[in-house]
Amino acid sequence: MVATSTTECPQAAEAGGEAMVRLCGVTKSYRTARGQLRIFDGLDAEIGRGEMVAIVGRSGSGKSTLLHLLGALDRPSSGQIYCASTLVNALNAKDAARFRNERIGYVWQFHHLLPEFTAQENVAMPLMARGMDRRQAMDEAAVWLDRVELADRATHRPGELSGGEQQRVALARALVTKPELLLADEPTGDLDETTSELVFGWMQRLHREQGLTSLLVTHNLELAGRCARVLRLEGGRLVDATRRDS
Ligand code: ADP
Ligand code: MG
Repeated sequence: MVATSTTECPQAAEAGGEAMVRLCGVTKSYRTARGQLRIFDGLDAEIGRGEMVAIVGRSGSGKSTLLHLLGALDRPSSGQIYCASTLVNALNAKDAARFRNERIGYVWQFHHLLPEFTAQENVAMPLMARGMDRRQAMDEAAVWLDRVELADRATHRPGELSGGEQQRVALARALVTKPELLLADEPTGDLDETTSELVFGWMQRLHREQGLTSLLVTHNLELAGRCARVLRLEGGRLVDATRRDS
């Protein structure tokens, strides 16, 4: 991690520079019945284009909150967030939705595929959401199902697929729009060890082949250790936890 001090943020962060992600003095608090709950206490971090970074930290440390902020699903209390050449903390709801559709691929612990639609329809959905006609969207979805080696499952509904297959469909759906940044929130959290390994392998492969920048939130320290960089959320801060074995 290239730590950036808060004071140098305004100039350095102008357009995010070469970085895919740049956080400058980001704080986040939630208002609760018992007062303010402070989650982030001034996050400064930079993630370069093409990096695959694991984000670890105990449950409740703010890992999901961080991905929500990066994906413009939520706003920081203060600070600046540049993500995929966009100052995301300043987006209105409409621009935030567009930013997500155009720049970000999202994968969650639970696949969130729509149960009444086939695998192919699920993958085509983000393309239709941006106005592509159904036939073209379905063609592109077919290419993506083939890419994750599930072409023979195109007409199956999510309930007819295994957990690992569901996550591969979710990866295809996340990437069909050709995003620059893949955000994955515990994508193997609900899978057994062998299947986690396979899904992680798919992420690594797609990261490389598609020239992505990937952020993987995971509890699995073994998988995290296989990412080029590991950041740990701890006490409201991001610290570099990359192991450098000599
Ligand atoms: P993690 O993903 O690391 O387990 P989260 O980002 O989900 O952690 O949550 C961080 C903390 O913020 C937790 O203590 C959680 O209870 C709290 N939190 C998350 N969302 C909200 C919200 N909308 N309102 C109040 N507190 C929240
Ligand atoms: Mg979480």
